Amino acid sequence: MNKRERIVALDKQLIWHPYAPMRRYIDEVDPVVVERAEGIYLWDVDGTRLIDGNSSWWVNVLGHNHPRLMEALRRQTESVAHCSLAGMIHEPAVDLAEQLLPLCGESYARLFFSDDGSTAVEVAVRMAYQYWQIKGRAEKNRFVTLQGAFHGETIGAASVSGADVFHEALGPLLFDRILLPSPAQAADAGAGEEWHSQAFEQAAEILEQGAGEIAAIIVEPLVQGAAGMLMYPPEYLRRLHELCQRLDILLICDEVFVGYGRTGTFLAHRQAGFEADIICLAKGFSGGVLPMAGTVASERVFEAFLGGPEQTLWYGHSFTGNPLGCAVAKATLEVYEEDDIIGQLPEKCAAMQRGLDGLAGHEWVRDRRRTGMISAFTLVDPAAASGKSNYLDDAGWRFFAEARKRGALMRPMGNVVYFVLPLVITVAQIEELFGIVDEALVATFG
Ligand code: PMP
Repeated sequence: MNKRERIVALDKQLIWHPYAPMRRYIDEVDPVVVERAEGIYLWDVDGTRLIDGNSSWWVNVLGHNHPRLMEALRRQTESVAHCSLAGMIHEPAVDLAEQLLPLCGESYARLFFSDDGSTAVEVAVRMAYQYWQIKGRAEKNRFVTLQGAFHGETIGAASVSGADVFHEALGPLLFDRILLPSPAQAADAGAGEEWHSQAFEQAAEILEQGAGEIAAIIVEPLVQGAAGMLMYPPEYLRRLHELCQRLDILLICDEVFVGYGRTGTFLAHRQAGFEADIICLAKGFSGGVLPMAGTVASERVFEAFLGGPEQTLWYGHSFTGNPLGCAVAKATLEVYEEDDIIGQLPEKCAAMQRGLDGLAGHEWVRDRRRTGMISAFTLVDPAAASGKSNYLDDAGWRFFAEARKRGALMRPMGNVVYFVLPLVITVAQIEELFGIVDEALVATFG
């Protein structure tokens, strides 16, 4: 048994994989066995080099093993690897907050640490809930979300997700949420360009009626990632924010996926010209190196918690504010600034667009779409009369296998193929990847 065979055998015997029907995984999946990573690449233990087409579940913004992030991590291990923030503080935490908050906007007053996107959302939900309790408006205790939205894995985060899959699987374990139509269904619903306006009108009606019992709305700004990279314009967000202000509803922007430059600006919601009440940051927050996240509160929200014990936010993980995570998160921001990561995006976005345009001739490729550095298309069987993608057929996986043979990991979401690449990718590497995708499409679908 060689090294690879040993790892795979033990994997199939001992490990329970995320979001995986395990019978099928054990019987059919030949996993990539990652031994090494650098830049946009992962290496299998058998020596195969693969482009990491989804930035390792969207976290890796600066490429794997970025030397300055690794150096920051090493340096921090020499002083303190972990201590709590219970009555304690350390330099990496304050340095990070000092650098991050102004980047978010003028009204953001405080950074609360958590461990990942789910817990960043969990914190936001509790902040919003307690905010109204403290304000003496306990009846404002319900949450509003967009159809198809994904906000994380904890019970609170899953409750405020609009994706049916969780509510079907977990049913009464989750608390009830109010659903708004997604503003991002234009292509799928065939409703045309103005779908987001219609979606807004419907949202306004629901919110006007329910405002008295609504604590907050949570949204993924501009791109509903896990729903299948569904995109909508800043205009919808801008109008939603205005409405929230008028109806006294808090607006939570979940920037876990779209933050850190993914949509072309540091934060996606700022393209709509406002500052949210609460923002959730994760994934790129620590350069994709360590599980660390943050929930950022505006002055308005934070000042409600400035008081006695009854005004305490009852929350705090063991690893809250972990110094290693803070050091890497701070180094991440330094790389963004020193290397002008955001400033370099327009030419990379243009290369992505050229790549997408070049796929126009493929019969199976529909709904080519892009927001900043996030691109996607939907695989639709030209023979299927309905024209709708079917989550259960395996076109995405057949394409995945062909792309993998050619050196790119393009894990699909159902029939949606998407590009969420480390932002440090070069124009030449983007062109190389689209070349692989082009060939893999031909190999899969002819
Ligand atoms: N919010 C959004 C918008 C996400 O896309 C995700 C993860 N894909 C999460 C929250 C949860 O993040 P994590 O997996 O780090 O808990």
